[in-house]
Amino acid sequence: MAASQRETLCKKTLSPVPVAELMEQARKAAELQTAEYVSGERAALTAEIKSLLQQEDAVLVAHYYTSPELQQLAEETGGHVADSLEMARFGSEHPAGTLVVAGVRFMGETAKILNPEKRILMPDAEATCSLDLECPVDRFTEFCDAHPDHTVVVYANTSAAVKARADWVVTSGIALPIVRYLAEKGEKILWAPDRHLGSYVQGATGVEMLIWPGSCVVHELFKADGIRELKKKYPDAAILVHPESPADIVAMADVVGSTTALIGAGSTLDATEFIVATEPGIFYKMQQAEPDKTFLEAPTGGAGGSCESCLRCPWMAMNGLRNLAAALRGGGDEILVDEDLRKRALIPLQRMMDFARGPHARRNS
Ligand code: SF4
Repeated sequence: MAASQRETLCKKTLSPVPVAELMEQARKAAELQTAEYVSGERAALTAEIKSLLQQEDAVLVAHYYTSPELQQLAEETGGHVADSLEMARFGSEHPAGTLVVAGVRFMGETAKILNPEKRILMPDAEATCSLDLECPVDRFTEFCDAHPDHTVVVYANTSAAVKARADWVVTSGIALPIVRYLAEKGEKILWAPDRHLGSYVQGATGVEMLIWPGSCVVHELFKADGIRELKKKYPDAAILVHPESPADIVAMADVVGSTTALIGAGSTLDATEFIVATEPGIFYKMQQAEPDKTFLEAPTGGAGGSCESCLRCPWMAMNGLRNLAAALRGGGDEILVDEDLRKRALIPLQRMMDFARGPHARRNS
């Protein structure tokens, strides 16, 4: 598709959802969680959460982008820290009857889709994602219906309703082999919702796709000039980039990959310094794996500059010890998904999980 056609597509399909306004609301909600603890509060909350997890037959699964204290707590209590799919897989295999998902809403929904018999709690189910917000199901359905000859591939960062409209769900870790596999079968592909990840997949596979124009409010802000300036100060640093970032940032990368792949690169590359273009919550696991290496935040604010509030995902920051404790006390948000919708959303999710275990995933990697 020509660039001008894509531009037209952007204007026609972009949702009127006030993302900036919702980000501001999220930042305010996050302030309640990040406000300084009064004396002894943190230790008391941690002890209470540990006790309630046992009492409620619950396990905590936290995303790499949540705060270090939540990630540490998940690990200390026999839970798990992972990317969205691995969080759901862990939840399915763990015997606990309640999964407490520290992350954003689509992660809680995915856990429910895969584990209908379990109770899924979140510290705050209003924690969402700009990619999910920018792909409302009614507009997306119209778009899909206008292209009935296309196979619909959606990123995991979507609502249960959008997944239910899709043929395939993908994560950033498995998008390339799935798109290659579909292209080999001669299928035309409609991709949503992240336009940068879509462009990256298109460039890496050579497969032309119809791309929905959503974006991540965090990754979209990385600045090539700022990274170049930082690279002058750290000339031997390797650059690690998540593919939700714009093309000029991806072009600078030594490694482009999912959160799990970037953490792995921190260990496997010979470099001892890394410039990392993704949400800084990931530094907890990177530093844990490689305590002697240096991980630097890629700048978002132009040459050499950095804006901390831009880098932090406002919705991930809504997860904290205070609302986690409240969720376990009975005041949190339980995630429910309509059963018919759940069954439809499960089909493309299960297709991805089966693919990941099969021979095509290895052949097309
Ligand atoms: S970092 Fe971006 S993609 Fe991840 S939850 Fe936040 S807004 Fe969504």
